[in-house]
Amino acid sequence: MVKPLRLRQLLRLVWFRDYLLGVSEILDVEHTPGGAVLMDGNRLRDALVAELNGRITELGNPAVCLATVLVGDDKPSQIYVRNKRRKAEEAGMQSRHVELPGDVSQQELEAAVLGLASDPTVHGILVQLPLPDGLDAERVLDLLPPEKDVDGLTERSMGRLVRGRDGHVPCTPLGVMRLLERYQIATAGRSAVVIGRSTLVGLPQVLLLGRKGCDATPTLAHSRTADLAAVCREADIIVAAAGIAGLVTADFVKPGAAVLDVGISRTADGIQGDVDFDSVQAVAGAITPMPGGTGPMTIACLLENTFHAARMQGVFSVA
Ligand code: NAP
Repeated sequence: MVKPLRLRQLLRLVWFRDYLLGVSEILDVEHTPGGAVLMDGNRLRDALVAELNGRITELGNPAVCLATVLVGDDKPSQIYVRNKRRKAEEAGMQSRHVELPGDVSQQELEAAVLGLASDPTVHGILVQLPLPDGLDAERVLDLLPPEKDVDGLTERSMGRLVRGRDGHVPCTPLGVMRLLERYQIATAGRSAVVIGRSTLVGLPQVLLLGRKGCDATPTLAHSRTADLAAVCREADIIVAAAGIAGLVTADFVKPGAAVLDVGISRTADGIQGDVDFDSVQAVAGAITPMPGGTGPMTIACLLENTFHAARMQGVFSVA
């Protein structure tokens, strides 16, 4: 009699053979103890930053500038912004930083953002969210021209994504797409489940997975989805973005499926993702680690968007 784990591994090989053939072309792919391909976001981020640096060098080092706006003294926000600026510099970009006190007025904050919006030497603007209580983030985001909205968060950027026009896509779902592409996870004709329907992650993720060229068939799951485990078990690709630690366990996962963990929860045991990595890696065909999966890719895609922002503003003409 075949043991359950062996049977699962066999099914994984059969159902995912074309995927495995694709991955074998990538050098140095690491596997988890259970045999899943580890989709390493740190390595891919570093590769993408180096690629951007190479492209900027080839173009003769045009000034490509990312401006960051940080309000208040929230420690995680300070760390996120510092990392983004550091990686921008590694990519050969300039970074401009505006830091405002937590008690800044809405009017002063809007004036600072408007100054960057009208400055032709600034190509991308990132306003670190969340803003301190009392400040209206929507009103601030509304001031960003779509060409400079490198976080892809404004309603105009979202409209461009829906309409298929040139614009910026939110960085986290774009990072998931880059992981799928670089690890050669087949998407055309495959079923996908995205857990979470926020405008930051879930909604744009569904649009990206379903659009022409990617051609997956996505399902959008949320807190009112009946029998989430059964819905996920049908999927070739699962993107978990609910913010519930350990929500996705092995029984949610079809053998061989690709599982990408976006969730970040601060628990008594430290930072955890939505995916129970230990159990899921024994069933999945590919999986992101947490940390080191989708998080670093969010930064890489911010820089990719900044590069395209400079192109959209005529700094250079190649794609
Ligand atoms: P959000 O706005 O709070 O949305 C969470 C979504 O998850 C909602 O649509 C919610 O459904 C759904 N949900 C909650 N509990 C659920 C459950 N038990 N079953 C199924 N769906 C459930 O959060 P977000 O901004 O999208 O972020 C999601 C997570 O990703 C957070 O942990 C966040 O910290 C993390 N994040 C990570 C990165 C990164 O770089 N890796 C970037 C951004 C965000 P309803 O709509 O029905 O309430």
